[in-house]
Amino acid sequence: MAIESCNPSSLGPAACEKDAKALQFIEEMTRNTDMVQEKVLAEILSQNAETEYLQRYELDGATDRDTFKSKIPVVTYEDLQPDIQRIANGDRSPILSAHPISEFLTSSGTSAGERKLMPTIRAELDRRQLLYSLLMPVMNLYVPGLNMGKGLYFLFIKSETKTPGGLLARPVLTSYYKSDHFKTRPYDPYNVYTSPNEAILCPDSFQSMYTQMLCGLYQRMEVLRVGAVFASGLLRAIRFLQIHWEELAHDIATGTLSHKITDSSIREAVSGLLKPNHQLAQLITNECSGGNLDGIIKRIWPNTKYLDVIVTGAMAQYIPTLEYYSGSLPMACTMYASSECYFGLNLNPMSKPSDVSYTIMPNMGYFEFLPHESSSDQIRNSTPRLVDLADVEVGKQYELVITTYAGLCRYRVGDILRVTGFHNSAPQFKFIRRKNVLLSIDSDKTDESELQKAVENASELLREFDTSVVEYTSYADTKTIPGHYVIYWELLVKDPSKGPSQEVLNQCCLIMEESMNSVYRQCRVADNSIGPLEIRVVKNGTFEELMDYAISRGASINQYKVPRCVNFTPITELLDSRVLSTHFSLACPKWTPERRR
Ligand code: AMP
Repeated sequence: MAIESCNPSSLGPAACEKDAKALQFIEEMTRNTDMVQEKVLAEILSQNAETEYLQRYELDGATDRDTFKSKIPVVTYEDLQPDIQRIANGDRSPILSAHPISEFLTSSGTSAGERKLMPTIRAELDRRQLLYSLLMPVMNLYVPGLNMGKGLYFLFIKSETKTPGGLLARPVLTSYYKSDHFKTRPYDPYNVYTSPNEAILCPDSFQSMYTQMLCGLYQRMEVLRVGAVFASGLLRAIRFLQIHWEELAHDIATGTLSHKITDSSIREAVSGLLKPNHQLAQLITNECSGGNLDGIIKRIWPNTKYLDVIVTGAMAQYIPTLEYYSGSLPMACTMYASSECYFGLNLNPMSKPSDVSYTIMPNMGYFEFLPHESSSDQIRNSTPRLVDLADVEVGKQYELVITTYAGLCRYRVGDILRVTGFHNSAPQFKFIRRKNVLLSIDSDKTDESELQKAVENASELLREFDTSVVEYTSYADTKTIPGHYVIYWELLVKDPSKGPSQEVLNQCCLIMEESMNSVYRQCRVADNSIGPLEIRVVKNGTFEELMDYAISRGASINQYKVPRCVNFTPITELLDSRVLSTHFSLACPKWTPERRR
């Protein structure tokens, strides 16, 4: 029953008392954005007043924004690395944070080829937990009845390492799933998972995935939502089903558990579930044996109302594949977070992926925004002023700069966000991209979103051949003269007898080039400093091998994102050894000195 009386929220009527409190909290925070931000900064600065870092910049105990902004520099990871290294080496003095550093969170962002190490403190777990606790109350506003079933979420931990000084270093989600906050979470009828904790917490990724899939299959009629952290994780689960359905169906038919599951805590946790179910085994066999994955999620889990998975940013390229596997179920992107800090949530989670905006919660940290200007503006305005959270302007793009309770001060996250509107006085942001340059041969600089757009444009051409690009990456090949862009494609050809011809794929190369920025096209056409773009079509499963390789080198399944550019030789060798065909642009893209628009 909706509790309207205790719901002063403009978000909508809460589904239950607990939700009403959460929505009220969101309202309170977002109505007082600037005040909350001021308070958060003062708290952080007073808590950390005695740290070496703040003393180095002579903050002298000041907690106001003006002094902070005038004395503390805006920094990148590389600037902080010497301090972080000292902490990693065992220096327990208050360098960045007055509270002891409880562990390092290993970001998927790297520095000098290694994962960045983000120091964190115990209290941050509470803050993360708080943000998680807001997600379902918002979702319940849009999808009724989620208390009548369960969520099938594919969640994984990853093994952890220790720094020379003995601190744990692990991905933020591993830290969270292993915490009591997660393990001993109180029962919430709106947030029941099919996966037992023992399966999520199993360090062996096969056993973890197998068990989570098995539990999801047994409880198929109860499943109301299917998810993973990122889209790539959900696709990996579907691929797992495609490969292992026979074994899973056998276990279900016999009510046994594969001998490959050796983890005794898992065996114990699922023992109550294992009952012979021939009908279910037959259904799985019928649905999976033909290899047809069209709408497989909806066929196996018919009551699924939505997919809970991040498909914004670099994950946007998975949208067509997920639509295919799910029979076009809605995709909810619920939150925006990082190892450094959890930022905020999507207050309209059933919006189309292209319309997703995240509301940064002002209580999570102190947020500043570096205007992200065109390069000509940057030259004119070499030190742009950072803008506060409450002062950003709709339509403008900014780079996110954070100050956290754990001791990062004015740290550039590297994410570029565009303001799309406000909820109360809290701005909402579309995630644009992570700031980076993917490819460069000459003076050209192609970033991730440009490459993504080029692949999308080219793959339009593949539609009539019932083919889509399921994965891609790129490589700046400078061994040829002039150098050229190499784009590796893994294709999903639904009907191999109707697949795209050599000519079509050559044409795709040209469409990609047409989609590149004018500097690229100028180099290509006028300067001849870039050679024709090449597409290399690789065998199915190649990108999974790439992921396996990354995981074997310490990447986390939860956080793994396909690198959109590869230059590490073993990776390019792996890709090249899986090439089925190569294709080149046979013409030059259009370029004139005039701007196109
Ligand atoms: P990590 O530090 O490995 O946890 O990665 C955090 C980064 O992942 C963020 O800084 C973003 O670049 C990206 N990310 C996290 N959440 C989202 C989201 N909802 N949409 C797009 N990108 C995201």
